[in-house]
Amino acid sequence: MKIADKKTTATELVKTALKKAKEYADYNIFTFIDEDGALKRAAEIDAAIARGEKVGKLAGVPYALKDNFLSPRGETTASAHILQGFKSPITATAVAKLEAEGAIMIGRTNLDAFAHGSSTENSYFGPTHNAVDFERVAGGSSGGSAVAVALDIVEFATGTDTGGSIRQPASFNGVYGLKPTYGCISRYGVVAMASSTDCIGFFSKTPEDMDLLMSIASGQDPKDMTTLPDYYSEAPRGSLSKLRIGVIKEFDNESVDADIRKALKEKCETLKKKGYEIVELEMPALKYALAAYYIIVPAEVASNLSRYDGVRYGFRSKESENLNDLYLNTRSEGFMPENKRRIMIGNFVLSSGFYDAYFLKAAKARTLIVQEYEKAFLKCDFILTPVSPNPAFKLGEKVNDPVAMYLEDLMSVSLNLAGVPGLAIPAGKTNSGLPVGLQLVGPRRSDKKLIEFSKELI
Ligand code: GLN
Repeated sequence: MKIADKKTTATELVKTALKKAKEYADYNIFTFIDEDGALKRAAEIDAAIARGEKVGKLAGVPYALKDNFLSPRGETTASAHILQGFKSPITATAVAKLEAEGAIMIGRTNLDAFAHGSSTENSYFGPTHNAVDFERVAGGSSGGSAVAVALDIVEFATGTDTGGSIRQPASFNGVYGLKPTYGCISRYGVVAMASSTDCIGFFSKTPEDMDLLMSIASGQDPKDMTTLPDYYSEAPRGSLSKLRIGVIKEFDNESVDADIRKALKEKCETLKKKGYEIVELEMPALKYALAAYYIIVPAEVASNLSRYDGVRYGFRSKESENLNDLYLNTRSEGFMPENKRRIMIGNFVLSSGFYDAYFLKAAKARTLIVQEYEKAFLKCDFILTPVSPNPAFKLGEKVNDPVAMYLEDLMSVSLNLAGVPGLAIPAGKTNSGLPVGLQLVGPRRSDKKLIEFSKELI
């Protein structure tokens, strides 16, 4: 490690990161930059090193925090008006673990409000710009985090992935993005979107960094009942020889960008040359994934967002004459249109008249999708697919067309419904120079081997 070797100092690293963050201010990456807090933390680490004390595995490493992770440093807003002014009294478990190893948060990053979206255009703070093409979207919802890593402002950034929010922005900006197995990293202290599909993960520049971050952040947490007993750090790396890699037949069609299909074919050729077997998979149940996702997720969203009432957190409307008005006005003024759309859809699909027709059907489709992945992993070890049907699109292109925006998630949401891990990897560029991302999908708890295997695709 550079710092422990005294080649540089935490203060130097943090100063450089802060300088870059300012240089790229136009990209609208950060909702908050904590210059004083970061420099103070860096000085403490430098002093500890000078005293000869043992420092953590991430000592002095600057990172960016998606603004839906709770920490007392700055307001936690989830890029939503309704959370403006909210200072968290607690720290998310993932943040506490990173910081215990010496990582230094320089700022909080922009997202689609409450992580609802695929472009970071649904943010109360306005959109984040793509790292490679300023006229294009960053992807979402973790757009700020992806761009902060892609522009080399920080070494890594945190993200949340409910239906693609780490993998899609990673692929739009040419970095690594991991959605781990559901339950691998504690969700305690992270603003909930859809509790049965929310996953905490990271953006990094290399698979090695991803592995280190995972070994630090994963593990059981008594504060999150859905966390799995720690399997990550104990997982044997396993042999990579003779692995079979599946490609999904249903994803190979005209609706997928030609350059992305080409990148996938090229990577398959590379793997074949290295002696891996490519297996074609038919996964017909995946065609239900998007519809099931956009019923189950809004249902959970409607429930999770009911706590924002103007009394307990952040913003409160000034206009109200009575309690009902206070709820109504605060929620009407405080939520973004996409948040409201999901609350309405969610309450509709859960209502007694429509529960059987929508929510229950979607829950059954989800079971089929879980089984589809189980069957697929009898035939292959990992699956390689595009992350999204297209590379980064133009700002404004889809923001007024919710269905077009939802279609962005066609290839990402089934993993969340099934709870399986997915790693977005950079896989070259389109003809016009935009980053192309592919995702490696594995069975539950295969995260470590998945990261290891991704090195074969560099
Ligand atoms: N784009 C998806 C959605 O809007 C996923 C969002 C996410 O993963 N947070 O629901």
